Amino acid sequence: MPNDTSSKLQKGELRFTILGTRGSMTTASPEMMRYGGNTTSYLFETEEEAIIIDAGTGIMNLPDVGEKRLSLIITHTHIDHILGLPMLLGSLRNRNITVYGEIRGGYTIRQQLERYLSIPLWPVSIDDYDVTVDFVNIAEGVSFSIGGVRIDTMPSNHPGGSTIFKLLYGGKVVIVATDFEHSPEASEGLISFARGSDMMLYDAQYTPDEYEQCRGFGHSTYEQAVIIQQKADIKEMLLVHHAPGHTDAFLDDLQCRLEAEGCKNISFAREGFKTVI
Ligand SMILES: [Zn+2]
Ligand SMILES: [Zn+2]
Repeated sequence: MPNDTSSKLQKGELRFTILGTRGSMTTASPEMMRYGGNTTSYLFETEEEAIIIDAGTGIMNLPDVGEKRLSLIITHTHIDHILGLPMLLGSLRNRNITVYGEIRGGYTIRQQLERYLSIPLWPVSIDDYDVTVDFVNIAEGVSFSIGGVRIDTMPSNHPGGSTIFKLLYGGKVVIVATDFEHSPEASEGLISFARGSDMMLYDAQYTPDEYEQCRGFGHSTYEQAVIIQQKADIKEMLLVHHAPGHTDAFLDDLQCRLEAEGCKNISFAREGFKTVI
């Protein structure tokens, strides 16, 4: 894994890094490398904590987080959100990690991940890695804390379920709303959950035209992102979960369209983007 020499964070600072933001399936096309081909994984760091949301292939970009406590929060276990997990576990020698996720389909978060990390899908089981993994099942709609970071949750509108997270730290509020399909009711719920946030990651997998062919697939559009940003008064909107077929040129074009319409502080997220919130 690449060695990260990022500056030390001060108390109250929250650093956000996009490790991967492609949706549904990883892509290695040279035409997609600026926005990135790795699937969904996001890193939030404080002085003491390294909190990863989702374990898509982007998790292979995890920088060296030193002695920080490691936590992994899973929105849901669709394959694009967990594909990189074996690579993470293989890279953590003699470390501890706590994995959080909801019970789905009657399976605990551990059982869901074991279905992937077991023969015949994968030859190494979770217990075989040189890492201590603790699992925490989170109940729908609960709040919990990791160190000084408070995390509120709400259920997403997504086939099989997914969780939307709100991270609160140092007076800042960040929403992670990947794998969300808009509807009048779902969007209202998200608007009241997210109101006044500093940053939101929002699922904009489809163009409005594509969405017409993909209703019920559990994803949204940049057009809906603009509406939610305005109604919820979100300072910075990052559009995530890019469709596997959307090239850099295509996403650049959508970005230009947003700017031409006067939309501000909204952009298609790029792998490797890093900011202190
Ligand atoms: Zn997904
Ligand atoms: Zn999904």
